[in-house]
Amino acid sequence: MRYILYARKSSESEERQVQSIDDQLRVVRDFAKRSGLDVVAELTEAHSAKAPGTRPVFAELLARIERGEAEGIVCWSINRLARNPVDSGQLSWLLQRGVLKSIRTIDREYLPEDNVLLMAVESGVANQYILDLRKAVIRGMEGKAARGWIPNRPPQGYGVNPLTKEIDPIEPQFQLLRQAWDLLLTGAYTVPQIRSKLQSWGYTYGKLGAPAKPLFAESHLYRIFDNRFYCGSFTFRGQTYQGRHRVMVSPEEFDRAQGILHKDNRIQPQRHEFPFTGLIRCGRCGCLVTAERKIKHYKTTARTAAYEYYHCTHRKGDCKEVSVTGPYIDSTIACELESVLIDPEFGQWLLKALERFWDEQPPVDPKLIKQHQEHVRATEQKLERLIQLRLAGELDAQEFSRIKTQTQGELADGRRQLESLSKRASTGRQALINAVRFGLDAPRHFAENDTHLKRYVATMFGIRYVLTLGKLEITPHPLLTQLAALEPPKSPRNMVGAGALRPDAPIEWSWRELNPRPKTNEPNHLQA
Ligand SMILES: [Zn+2]
Repeated sequence: MRYILYARKSSESEERQVQSIDDQLRVVRDFAKRSGLDVVAELTEAHSAKAPGTRPVFAELLARIERGEAEGIVCWSINRLARNPVDSGQLSWLLQRGVLKSIRTIDREYLPEDNVLLMAVESGVANQYILDLRKAVIRGMEGKAARGWIPNRPPQGYGVNPLTKEIDPIEPQFQLLRQAWDLLLTGAYTVPQIRSKLQSWGYTYGKLGAPAKPLFAESHLYRIFDNRFYCGSFTFRGQTYQGRHRVMVSPEEFDRAQGILHKDNRIQPQRHEFPFTGLIRCGRCGCLVTAERKIKHYKTTARTAAYEYYHCTHRKGDCKEVSVTGPYIDSTIACELESVLIDPEFGQWLLKALERFWDEQPPVDPKLIKQHQEHVRATEQKLERLIQLRLAGELDAQEFSRIKTQTQGELADGRRQLESLSKRASTGRQALINAVRFGLDAPRHFAENDTHLKRYVATMFGIRYVLTLGKLEITPHPLLTQLAALEPPKSPRNMVGAGALRPDAPIEWSWRELNPRPKTNEPNHLQA
């Protein structure tokens, strides 16, 4: 039997995962050779097969089969041939009349009696259905937003009422956060100070029914004070909506809080604070780099200006490393931060994809956790039996005490191991989620004129800052650069729709990479 080899590469973005024409040709030629097929011609084209009648080479293929130049078609996969019912029908008709006797793909053969071509088209239609469904879900969420209810998870202090599906305040979080806003509005408290206050009030958060978590990171609190949801509005997919939930602060209070947070007009601490002291090492002698402020008066223009300089502390003796200005350090970090910036849409998708991924592949094997749970339970039962034996008088006091001490030790060990396993599972997740959020928000936060925020972002961003010959060299956290590299170059939505980009090995790998703790002076929040 004579075969015509057909290869097609579409330009559609959702088929980006399909092999290139060269790859297809190489694989199919190899397959034809191994199977001893007599290939009389090779036809290739780069056209989508979604709409019928748009592929001249495909039309030529059918015409040449019709003319009897060959009796078979060989191709990489059946979806290279037909992705719409019209083309599929033509092929089925050729097969049924026996003009076409065989279609060979690398995984199977289609014969005249098979009606699989229609099935292949059906599956293509199913893909389209999934894409449409996704659009429908988004439309549904937009509807909810238009009715005044935030379609995403509401921020802290609020929860979704399971009965009405509306957003209700959750106590005592709502009241405690309102008190936090009050502190901010006095203008006398910094965000870290407010965080400590919340901690002393016993503030915890968590989903309804889930165990409460201790206090969140400082960045969470910055996000709360930045979120217009608390004064009544929210954004969803680029649109701003007026919410119907109970507000925590008035719009006037919210605006005043923004002024206090961002214009840095709160009551200043006694000493001038520099954002990057204690973060950078001198490349020449290894000492820390410190900062100082110099006031300069220009006699000719009668102008006074303050300058910030960063220089080596000279702890190990005289060091020749040159000093640099504060703005230079600031702009260098800002520039490097751009490299780990994550596109908002991609970032949101990634967060969701990670949730899905972890549902399927938990960071710690659930079987292992179950084993430990069973061990703990068995030890508890053993202890219980021991007590019963003693009560029944079958054990003397000395014997009982000896076995009891031993069993209690076993139980404590077991519980400790179980706890560390669960902790390992959750810290790995949280670190990765924090890293994605960092890539989404950090560059913007860094640009705000806030010493605390700058310092916070810089600490999380770099694992090493070295000043050498007046040049600042930064080693970003490897997880951040890896995440940024995952972002597809073009419009991510198409890739997402086709599932072409799934979180798999690279992310899992980077999660494992996290375990070595970077050496910084400040606690690194990517770690916990
Ligand atoms: Zn030095």
